Amino acid sequence: MKFTLPELPYAKDAFAPYISAEGFDYHYGKHHATYVTKLNELVQGTDYENKTLEEVVVQSAKENKTPIFNNSAQHWNHSFFWNCLSPSGGSLPTGKVAEMIDRDFGSFDAFKEKFSTTATTLFGSGWAWLVVDQSGKLEIVGLSNAGTPLTQDKTPILTLDVWEHAYYIDHRNARPKHVEGFWNVVNWDFVNSNIKN
Ligand code: MN
Repeated sequence: MKFTLPELPYAKDAFAPYISAEGFDYHYGKHHATYVTKLNELVQGTDYENKTLEEVVVQSAKENKTPIFNNSAQHWNHSFFWNCLSPSGGSLPTGKVAEMIDRDFGSFDAFKEKFSTTATTLFGSGWAWLVVDQSGKLEIVGLSNAGTPLTQDKTPILTLDVWEHAYYIDHRNARPKHVEGFWNVVNWDFVNSNIKN
């Protein structure tokens, strides 16, 4: 198998009750795993088999290979998302990202409200992203379905999955609870590690 499901960087029960072990069993163990399985089936015997995951995402988008794009982008987005969470995360941002948030949004509270609104109001399935644009400025973007900043020449530094499959086990249909709980587990060290100087 060319592409593999990454190990979670924490125990599956580390976030309960925000995300239960059962929540991870479904979201990581079934939904994410299925994207990986489908991606491997789709790239078999094609040029994509010899490319990195990032290359597959970008190239399949350009070539309108929609099933390959959907499954590769969802694999990349989820792998990135797991790293955005930490059992010791949450609280206020630190380091470079804290300075950038104050500079570009005025305050952490203003940023948090804007990101939360983007995540809560995104229609249908998708992802809320914090990205660094080409000029080095922070930007919040909501992208539908498998949308990823990798295809927009923007550097993703934080994301929240707002597909219903991300929260139906633990919060039923209540996306706002899923968004609210996110702030208690954000891995700001990982966010900072994604900022290129
Ligand atoms: Mn998901």
